[in-house]
Amino acid sequence: MRKPIIAGNWKMFKTIAEADSFVQHLPVVEQEVDVVVCAPFTALFSLTEPLRAKNIALGAQNVHWESEGAFTGEVSPGMLAEIGVKYVIIGHSERRAYFNETDETVNRKVRSALDARLMPIVCVGENLSVREAGQTSTIVNGQITAALSELSAEQLNQIVIAYEPIWAIGTGQTATAEEANEVIKAIRGCIAEQFGSQWAEQVRIQYGGSVNPQNIQGFMSQSDIDGALVGGASLTPDSFIALVKGAA
Ligand code: PEP
Repeated sequence: MRKPIIAGNWKMFKTIAEADSFVQHLPVVEQEVDVVVCAPFTALFSLTEPLRAKNIALGAQNVHWESEGAFTGEVSPGMLAEIGVKYVIIGHSERRAYFNETDETVNRKVRSALDARLMPIVCVGENLSVREAGQTSTIVNGQITAALSELSAEQLNQIVIAYEPIWAIGTGQTATAEEANEVIKAIRGCIAEQFGSQWAEQVRIQYGGSVNPQNIQGFMSQSDIDGALVGGASLTPDSFIALVKGAA
């Protein structure tokens, strides 16, 4: 049985004061769903204790692959782990599009994050022209193969995949639950080819792209969708709480 996981991606929203106020409005989360808040770097440290008290894990939105060095502006996996971060989003489509993230850098970040005992939430997804050309699974499975390159099968237990069609992110347009499930099944098949089906069956795979409290249950009712990575609808406590309830 794979435990559902809901992760909020706050992107570049919320000051420390806003982040603290958000968490104060949350109830203690029940055990049946893993809940993660991926906050901006500046708010992470102050959220460690308040989130722990609510049984919610702290996540970051990016990380560098080196452990230290002359990399102005970057943050290492160890630095995140030191302040209580448990998860880190890697390869979000916004980072691939605006900050030159490539399949190769995604893989380096995944391996370094795992070495620091962080759990990567690895994002993959196709753009609209790829979807219209019927190439979704080819492209997405290529991203998966690259991201998981050189990992051991045991490390798959420490990874979450987020399938996020780029055309659905922040647009209000979603893949149907069935379409998302089909791509996610293909991702599981791709992981099975690389590592064996007993390992692939254990990997948690989220859907992301305009998920909200109204549509979450449709996604969660699918056989292969284990949760959601949520941007816009994770920004207010009421909506976030409703998403968590919808996943339980
Ligand atoms: C995201 O940022 O990963 C995302 C899925 O955003 P939204 O839920 O706003 O589409």
